[in-house]
Order: sequence, then C-alpha cells, then structure tokens
Amino acid sequence: MTTQVLDYPTQAYINGQWTSTGRTFTITNPATAEKLFEVTDCGAPQAEAALQAALEAQKTWRKVNPFERGRIIAKWAALMHENSEKLARIMTLEMGKPIIETRGEVKYAASFAEWYAEEGKRYAGEMLHMPFDHKRAMVRYDPVGVCYAVTPWNFPAGMVTRKVAPALAAGCVMVLKPAEQSPVTALYLAELWEQAGGPEGTFQVLPSLDPVPVSKPFIDSADCRKITFTGSTEVGRILFTQAAQTLKRISFELGGHAPFIIFPDADLDLAVKEVMLAKYRNAGQTCVCVNRLYVHEDIAEAFTAKLVEKVKTLKVGNPIEQTTSIGPLVEEQGLRKVERHVQDAVEKGATLDFGGESLGGLFYSPTVLSNVTSDMLIMNEETFGPVAAITTFKTTEEAIELANNTPFGLAAYLWTKDIATGFKVSEALEYGIVGVNDGVPSAASPHVPFGGMKFSGVGREGGHWGLMEYLEPKLVSYGLY
Ligand code: NAD
Repeated sequence: MTTQVLDYPTQAYINGQWTSTGRTFTITNPATAEKLFEVTDCGAPQAEAALQAALEAQKTWRKVNPFERGRIIAKWAALMHENSEKLARIMTLEMGKPIIETRGEVKYAASFAEWYAEEGKRYAGEMLHMPFDHKRAMVRYDPVGVCYAVTPWNFPAGMVTRKVAPALAAGCVMVLKPAEQSPVTALYLAELWEQAGGPEGTFQVLPSLDPVPVSKPFIDSADCRKITFTGSTEVGRILFTQAAQTLKRISFELGGHAPFIIFPDADLDLAVKEVMLAKYRNAGQTCVCVNRLYVHEDIAEAFTAKLVEKVKTLKVGNPIEQTTSIGPLVEEQGLRKVERHVQDAVEKGATLDFGGESLGGLFYSPTVLSNVTSDMLIMNEETFGPVAAITTFKTTEEAIELANNTPFGLAAYLWTKDIATGFKVSEALEYGIVGVNDGVPSAASPHVPFGGMKFSGVGREGGHWGLMEYLEPKLVSYGLY
C-alpha cells in the first residue's frame, strides 16, 4: 500500500528549494505502526535561512498585483482538487483520520484558497469623510509582513490553508512549521504551491521534531511581524508570552471543551444524528468536538438508549478502508488521556453504557458514559477521543450555567424546537461558535469567522475577519492646499 504513495516530498521547502539537513525523523502510520517516511529535521540554521528568504520575498510579494496573487492562489486550490486522492491518502496514512473524512478535508482545505483568491482582490481600503472641507482621509490595507505559522496534526491540510491562503492573498509571506506527526501533508501543499507558480520564499515549510529551536528565530526577530498558531491552550500561552517581546500580531486557535445541550422538546433522532458527527468524527480529535452532553432529565434515558444504538454501528478499523468510521488515536499520549478520563469517570460513579476499552495499538472503542458529574476529569478537560459524556439538567438557567462553567469558549451546541430558547441560549453562551440545531456548524466553511473566546483563542480565521488578521489599516490623511 505505501509503495504507491512514497513519491511525496519529505525534505524541507526553503526559498523554493527542497533542502536536506542530514537529520531526519520517522513518520509512522498510527493504524499499523508501519514506518512511512523519513522527513528532514530542521533546526535553527534552516529557520534563519527561511527567515532571510521570507524577508527578501516579502519585498516583492507585497507589490504583486492582488489579481495576480489571486490567480496563483486559485491555481493552488485547483491543484489540491486535481490531487485530491493523493492528499487524502497521505493525511489518512500519517495521522489516522478515516479516508472518507480526509477526502472532505481536501475540499475544506481547497475552499480557503478558492475563497481568499477572490477576497484578496476586494480589500484595498476605504475613503473617509473628514470634519474639515480641506482634508480627505483614506485607509489603506497594507500587508502585515513576514508571518510564522505553527499548526496541529488533527487537520493537517485544513489548518494550513486556513492560515496560508489569507496571508498570501493579503500580500504577506508565510513560513510554516507543521506538526511533527503530519508534516508530509504540509510539504505536499508546498509542492502544489510551487506547481501553481508560487514565487520562491513566499510559502516555506520547515518540518521539525523539536518545535522550539526552529521557532526561536521567528519569535526573536522583530522582522517577523506575526505568529499564527493552532494547537493546545498550553502551547498557545507559551507562544503568546514569547510573541510579546517583539509585540507581534497574533492569531491563536486553541483548545475547546464543547457543551451540547439537549432541551426536552428536541427531536431526539435528529439530535442523536448530529451528536454522532459532533462527537465521533476524527475519533473525537477535533477542537469543536462535543466533550460534555447536557440532556434534560426527562429525556436523558431515551436519548442515551438511542445514542448507544447508533454508536454500536460505528466501524472501528484501518482508516484507509472506505467503510471505517473510527480510526486510531494519533499517538500513545492521546490514548492514555482517553483511558484516564474514562477510568476516572467510572471510578467516580459514571455508568459505562457502551465501549470503554482499548482495542490494541492506538485504537479505542467509541464510548458512551452517563450519570457523569462535574467533578470528573472528562467534564473539566478536553478529552480528544471518542467518548460521549452525558449528564442531566433541570432548567434552562442551569444548562447555561453548566455550559459556561469552563475557561474554554470555542464551540457550543444546543438542540430545541423553540425559537425563543434557541435565541436566548445562543446569546447567553460564551463561545465563538454556537450551533443551534446544528452539530456541524457552518463553521466548516471558508467565509465565516472561526475562533474562540477565553482560553480558546485570540482572533478569527475565515471570511473577511481572517483576511484582516493579515492586514494593517494605514491612515493616509490629505490636506488639499
Ligand atoms: P500542540 O499544542 O501540542 O501542538 C501544536 C503545534 O505546536 C505542533 O506543531 C507542535 O510542534 C507545536 N509546538 C508545541 N510546543 C511548542 C513550543 N514550545 N513552541 C513552538 N511550537 C510548539 O497541539 P496538538 O496536540 O498538535 O493539537 C491538538 C490541540 O489543538 C487541541 O487542544 C485542539 O483543540 C487544538 N486545535 C484547535 C483548533 C482551533 O481552531 N481552535 C483546531 C485544531 C486543533
């Protein structure tokens, strides 16, 4: 199987050149433990070289006509579609997401390049009225400058294009350090950028086993004007502090701990259908995945029974197979966290309705727990695994309070037939994304703002909000003498 896909680039992509360092690290298939690739391991010297190349490229890319930039970015998107199966396979092989989902991720990743290829043409600036007859004022949108991106493994293509496409469209250049678990997807995206005619130094990729030395030159340099990061809140906090030294612009998409509230008037079959997607896709390893299910006490038993019936139909297996709905967890550490959360819940009195066992290798059975209480780990930390934790509530006020009782604020969901409840609860939830009768919110589109409040992040990706993250509004004031 792997012999068919080994023609992926595995060297660093620096200033338009595929570059070796003499050091490599191994990418292993989490489903089979098979060794897939030896990938070039970058350190500080490669980061310095990429920074210098980025500074040089920035001088010209910012002046390239936005229509021409858009043409190259659109070509990049077209190449993602043309090579869709190859991109999907590499994601599945390196991080274990089922192939039926990675095919969707290719479309999602390409959609950002398509959207920003157009959006970049629309944002020139604004003319302003002035309170003086002899003055005029204009706001120009200038590119922020050289940007540095750090991305996670759970959406190896989507998290890259969600940052790189708006940056390039805005006239910024980008150096990317992809997650050490899934760098080959990012390198393949760089190859497609090269094929699209992307000029050297505009998009560079530095795979590295150790993120610290490779990040340091960008963090330390005042010439790197922005850090954009998607990953855990813990690492986000470190980078936030470091970026403060040179007062960089930042965009941080961090961890979630999503609640899903089900009111007593909900259509239970529909709610269960959406919980299945909101909880179990990517084996629960998605930042907007449901972590806490708050079900009204009158319907909790019926809901749990229906959910268990559906969960029993999930097929755990090798993610490269079409019929697999749950693949492995990405690594040992993630598996241990899931085991710890389930064990802690059961020890503290939760009911194990289904699953709850390691299946060998990095596989964990899709699991349903009920009678979960707020003192359990699973109700306080992001699990990042295929475990649904159900608890009950009595009143709407109680549900809102429980849902908001967390430092995280990325995604939240609620299910009701009552329009007033939908409005009131969505307004009260302290989250950047709220799905009302929608378990996979329209957030999976390139034109809407995606991001979190509180410990879930700073800034937004997607739409014009995502473009503005890479633009500096510059006031130009004219005196008409
Ligand atoms: P992680 O924070 O461990 O790693 C993310 C990236 O940061 C990786 O590339 C890693 O190499 C790098 N990194 C780690 N330590 C670093 C350091 N000291 N300096 C510089 N870079 C460093 O997160 P992960 O396990 O890869 O991803 C899972 C997390 O990402 C979850 O918490 C999930 O909720 C979050 N996430 C958030 C979003 C969102 O849009 N809000 C999307 C996807 C994932």
